[in-house]
Amino acid sequence: MTDRPVLVVNSGSSSMKYQLVDPDAGVAVASGVVERIGEPGAAGRARHSFAGNDTTFSGPIPDHAAALEVMRQLFVDSGRPLRGERLVGIGHRVVHGGDVFADPVLIDDAVLRQIRAVSGLAPLHNPANLTGIEQAARAFPGIPQVAVFDTAFFRTLPAAAATYAIDADLAARHAVRRYGFHGTSHQYVSGQVATVLGRPLADLDQIVLHLGNGASASAVRGGVAVETSMGMTPLEGLVMGTRSGDLDPGVLLHLAGPGGLDPAGLDTLLNRRSGLLGLAGTNDFRDLQAMMDGPDADRAAAARLAFDVFCHRVRKYIGAYLAVLGRVDVITFTAGVGENAPAVRAQVLAGLEGLGIVVDADRNAVRSRDARIISPPDTPVTVMVVPTNEELAIARATVTVVG
Ligand code: AMP
Repeated sequence: MTDRPVLVVNSGSSSMKYQLVDPDAGVAVASGVVERIGEPGAAGRARHSFAGNDTTFSGPIPDHAAALEVMRQLFVDSGRPLRGERLVGIGHRVVHGGDVFADPVLIDDAVLRQIRAVSGLAPLHNPANLTGIEQAARAFPGIPQVAVFDTAFFRTLPAAAATYAIDADLAARHAVRRYGFHGTSHQYVSGQVATVLGRPLADLDQIVLHLGNGASASAVRGGVAVETSMGMTPLEGLVMGTRSGDLDPGVLLHLAGPGGLDPAGLDTLLNRRSGLLGLAGTNDFRDLQAMMDGPDADRAAAARLAFDVFCHRVRKYIGAYLAVLGRVDVITFTAGVGENAPAVRAQVLAGLEGLGIVVDADRNAVRSRDARIISPPDTPVTVMVVPTNEELAIARATVTVVG
């Protein structure tokens, strides 16, 4: 066991994922998730894994302070108290860094203020990230805390990719531009691709498809991001679990006029009630696939359409990014759906042989937690599945910042 672990915390509005990471060995020493924070009654629950054993908790978890206490107790219960660890630091995932943060940063009061100032750009995420940081600072006084931003990797987007074609002064006044998200994942995965292939990152033109409950695509030239599908907020681009992705802005005008929705109603609709959930009634891809084969014909048809819309949108972005890059060496699938749903990978890339893109059916069907190639040997474009590991990337960034 390392004597220099990093605690990585990813706080959502009602959940908190954490990992104790050995950044040198690149492994999670312990990990867990606290769920249903702030839900009424005794609905809270948590699961902690250490040395192959799971320890669980269920009971009331009224807020994030309580969630951290549950985590601390689970470390004790598992036989490896966190107090005994010499934590190098605590690394926090923060979704939006606005145009302020281009790199991971040591958190102080000024940084907290700046994160708060850009929170309106990511209303689903930043407030929860902030709560996690504030409570962790109280629970672990004296331990350096580092913020690692989802937007940072995309600060290199060329102006032509980052700019919305609206009134330039208005855009500047309101910080309206494309920022991109999931950057920690896109950066980690594109780096892993180079490592696994044994080729210099600088030589590779890549398309990375992060397909999870949130979903995004990126074009990465020589390790530098040149395009990505999410924009000013994590709402643009691909179809997601509960988010619409791309939409004609005229739809908003229509819904705000005849539809009678106010900004809060539009926010709820597009961020929480759209995407797969809006189309088929579930945001869980496993449920969606089960519904497609289920006995209820109407639900099956709705699920099939949601699946097709999801895959079509990904495919459209691949076409766009091929043109942006001019060529592509590697297309990589990652995150919950990308890593685990062969049917999605097959449908997204079907019929692209003319572009040098082929998926080998047998390789695609293999279930594995390892990075792997799913294209046949000697095809022009290498297609891969690479598990993302944002926690490890955050842990390594934390070590770099803390020094
Ligand atoms: P993430 O946000 O990366 O955790 O991904 C969550 C999504 O991945 C959810 O929609 C899950 O249903 C989906 N997912 C996880 N495992 C599988 C699987 N074996 N097959 C299909 N989808 C999966």
